[in-house]
Parts: sequence; C-alpha cells; structure tokens
Amino acid sequence: MAETEHRPTNFIRQIIDKDLANGVHTSIKTRFPPEPNGFLHIGHAKSICLNFGIARDYQGSCNLRFDDTNPAKEDIEFVNSIQQDVKWLGFEWDGEARYSSDYFDQLHGFAVELIEKGLAYVDFSTQEAMREMRGTLTEPGKNSPYRDTSIETNLQEFAKMTAGEYPEGHCSLRAKIDMTSPFMCMRDPVIYRIKFAHHHQTGEKWCVYPMYDFTHCISDAIEGITHSLCTLEFQDNRRLYDWVIENITIDCTPHQYEFSRLNLEYTVLSKRRLIQLVEEKHVAGWDDPRMPTIAGLRRRGYTPGSVREFCLRIGVTKMDNMVEMSMLEACIRDDLNVNAPRAMAVLEPIKLVIENYPEGESETLTAPNHPNDESMGTRNLNFGREVWIEAEDFRESANKKFKRLVLDKEVRLRNAYVVKANRVEKDAEGNVTTVYCTYDADTLGKDPADGRKVKGVIHWVDVASGEPAQFRLYDRLFNVPNPAAEDDFVDAINPDSLIVKSGWVEPGLPGRVPEVGSWQFERTGYFCLDKDSTPEQLVFNQTVGLRDTWAKIGD
Ligand code: ATP
Ligand code: MG
Repeated sequence: MAETEHRPTNFIRQIIDKDLANGVHTSIKTRFPPEPNGFLHIGHAKSICLNFGIARDYQGSCNLRFDDTNPAKEDIEFVNSIQQDVKWLGFEWDGEARYSSDYFDQLHGFAVELIEKGLAYVDFSTQEAMREMRGTLTEPGKNSPYRDTSIETNLQEFAKMTAGEYPEGHCSLRAKIDMTSPFMCMRDPVIYRIKFAHHHQTGEKWCVYPMYDFTHCISDAIEGITHSLCTLEFQDNRRLYDWVIENITIDCTPHQYEFSRLNLEYTVLSKRRLIQLVEEKHVAGWDDPRMPTIAGLRRRGYTPGSVREFCLRIGVTKMDNMVEMSMLEACIRDDLNVNAPRAMAVLEPIKLVIENYPEGESETLTAPNHPNDESMGTRNLNFGREVWIEAEDFRESANKKFKRLVLDKEVRLRNAYVVKANRVEKDAEGNVTTVYCTYDADTLGKDPADGRKVKGVIHWVDVASGEPAQFRLYDRLFNVPNPAAEDDFVDAINPDSLIVKSGWVEPGLPGRVPEVGSWQFERTGYFCLDKDSTPEQLVFNQTVGLRDTWAKIGD
C-alpha cells in the first residue's frame, strides 16, 4: 500500500541522530524482546515497527529476543506465533532468533561476580518479612539481616541454591543497592529466584532463574544493543538497568529509552486479559477476528502494510493516550479502497424474478474489477431470469430518498440492466421473499432510450451460478472505550460483536483471492475468505465497513 513515504521522526530517532553525529555510536542495533507468554497484539506492532523501522532506516540491525525467564507461563506455541507475526509484518531479525535463556550461563556468572564484589547476597527472609522491610513510597526500607553475610558464605549459599538444595521460595539472591532509594526497584531487588520448572529451551538444566530486570540489560549488553527501547512503565527500572551494567564486567553500554504504550479504544491490550478472553472462551481463539492480536487482525483481513501505516500515523511519544479504533480502520480502508478488487455478494437475500427474461436462458456480462483502476481488468458474470438481491434494497413503498428498488419503480442492477418491480410474494410472517419485475433489455451499459432517469443502483448475485456463503460481521468487542478501567472487563464484552449472515456470492472467488486478501463486496464492505470455509460453504470475514461507522457511536 502507499505507506507514508517520508521517514518518521520522533524523540528516539532524534537521540539516535545525535549519538551518530557525536560519534557515541557508529552503527545502530535494536531488539524486540517479547515474552513468549501469549500472542502479539497491535501494541507490540508499535514496538516492532519502532525497533525494526529504526534498524532499517539507519542501516543497522534488530534482534528478535525471547525474554524467557519465567518458564511457568511460557510456551513454544507462543514462540512460533511471535516469529510468524513479526515476519508477516514484513520484518527480518538479525541472524537466528535469540533467547534470554541462551545467556543463562553468563547471567549466572555475572550474579557470582556481583556476589564476589560484595554487591549481592542470598536472603533467607520470608516473602512477608521482605515485603515489610521494603518500605513504601514515603518510607525508606530496612536492611535485611542477611545483607552483611560474608562474600564467602554468599557464594556457598548461591551455589546451593543453584544445585537445588533449597526448595522454592526458601531464599533468593538480591542485589545490594540502597534500601532508602526513592526508587523502589533499587531497594535491593531480587535478581535470582528458585523455580523448579521445566523450561521450553533449557529443559531441566536450571532450578534458579534470573529476574527480568537483571536479565534484560545484560542480554542487551551481550548482543551489543545500542538503544534499548521499552514502554514507560520501565522508566524507574532504568536506574537498575544502569546499575547492573555499571557493576559487571562487560564492554558494552546499552541505554534504555522509554516511549508510551499504545492503548486502543474498545479493546484490551494486555496479555493477561487477552489470555483470559481465550481461556474463558469469550472469543474463538487467539486469532478470533475480533481480537486485537496480530493473528486476529490478519484473519480479519488487515494487510501488513495497513498495520505498519497505523504505527506510523500514531507516532512515538512519551505521552500516554488512547487511540480511536477509527484510526486503525482508516488505515485498512485506505489500503483496500485502492487495492481490493470489487465483487458482489448478497448477505440477506430475497429473490428477484425477471418475468420477461426468457426462461432457461442466460447470458454473460462483463464487470470491471475496480471502478477507478482499469489495470485490474474485468470479470464475467452470469446473468439469468432469477437473481438474489438484499432484502434491505427493496421496499413496497418509500419516499424519494430511498434510491433502491420500490414497487412500480425502476432501479439498475449493478453491471447489468434496469428493472422495474411489479409485485411481491411474502412468507407467513409477512416478509417479502420474492419480488417479480420486468427488465428493460435496452439498458445494458446505457441509460434508458427515452430519457428516463434511473438513479438507484443495487447489487445482485445470479441464482443459477451464485455460491452459498456465510458472512461474519464484526463489531467492537467491548461496549466501553476503556474496558480495562471496568471492575471486571469481561462484563463489558459486547454480546453483538459477531453477527452471522447467510447469503450468496458471485462464483469463483476462492480461485482468485486478491493479493491484498480482501474484496470489496460492492455497497456492503470489505471481506476476506476465512479458514473455516469448506467446499460446501464459503465463509467470509468482514474486514471493515465501507465508511466509518464508529463516528456514530453514542447516538
Ligand atoms: P503485556 O502487558 O500485554 O503483557 P508486555 O509488555 O508484558 O505486554 P512483552 O512481551 O514483554 O509484553 O512486550 C514486548 C515488547 O513490546 C516490550 O518492549 C513492550 O514494551 C512492548 N509492548 C507491549 N505492549 C505494548 C503496547 N501496548 N504498546 C507499545 N509497546 C508495547
Ligand atoms: Mg512483559
């Protein structure tokens, strides 16, 4: 798609420009560090586009590193989905994917180095005692009774921890920093804890695991990361990041910079909540098209270019804000409006019988694939005596504003003839099921000869050749702009977020899936084929409507 051409600028790129100009760095290295404990979401896409985009624009490189220090919550399924999603977004990481667990040996060595320098100690205090000694934001903490244990003893105790001689929770290794620091994360943070867990990369090798804050900065340094970009909640932790790097022997000094997370209206972007939606089956899975996951967006019909464009448009700042869903939808709509071929589908069919069209006959009409782009070519459409039209495109009576089919009035069938409605047939409930009409055979590709003006145009599908299809129409997943702020976000789920309709599409669509993945079903919206399609029934997901219907919310 036509992505914003210019290189974006933001405060992080300005820092990089300065570092390059001042010779602080001669090349740029970034990383994207997901924890493999869930699927990636659109917030991660912001981080991916930032990190990989910088690497691309500065001829640097970007690593993909799985931050896998919490084996209990992690899974290889997530490792695989994350790699797939990053690739789908159009980015390539430098070399092989990396894992923090690749560095467990080195991390352990650095922990020993800190102990040897008198900068770490094994603490046997209970969790509760530790919490009490920690102090609060307004009160300083207190030193642990284990804080002054000799280096010798600490080395022995850490070796015992590592050898599995203590049960989980019995003790932990803490950095010896400052229990009176105004930054809580500097009050002797735990850097290693005991966990008897199977790890998806290292198996049973370890029963002690390094904490995130200790692991992240060292992994950055080992990989030679120059600019370590993360979200604002890690702002305070930057002190600890720098402290660790300063106090270990490593010849690389990465720097951490923080930017604001993406928050998107009417959805949630926290893995904890997304996991809950999946596990409690409020959605059909991680790739449910209503999910804000990359996998969900992909299944919904978003293109990689539209997601990248969205990330460009929202920009990168230090200001927390809530982005409107319509921003995201505008990006895919702009893409598909230009690049999606047109087709016809009827979502809620009633039958139109053309009484003066010879029975048993049919003809082949030609329709352009895009009204403004001849290069997209044309396709053949079968036309015969019976076609499906939308129930909502017909009324027995209506005022002039209704530019569709009305009894005794004329309308044009898109890419075909002008028809006039004569009479209807109804079911027991009084719903119109069939409209009988006559067509003007002299109106194919031209106005009626006698100067009659026919303004309305409706779409249709040939009954004889149309294929049955299910249409899944999606609305916002939550009823409130900020579900995370609710007591229980699950209560704010929109019960009408999925509406299923059964109708007809013109034939042959699965055989000509467009490059952008979606078609514009004329007058209806953008749709892509879903993986639930079978030879008996096609299934289409509505990617996005033709217009911004979000603007109406709150009416
Ligand atoms: P969550 O809170 O959803 O669990 P996380 O931050 O724990 O997210 P990680 O897998 O640790 O998820 O994130 C990998 C990277 O993506 C981190 O650098 C993180 O800052 C970034 N990231 C996560 N969520 C967002 C978001 N909403 N907007 C921008 N960046 C994000
Ligand atoms: Mg995290």
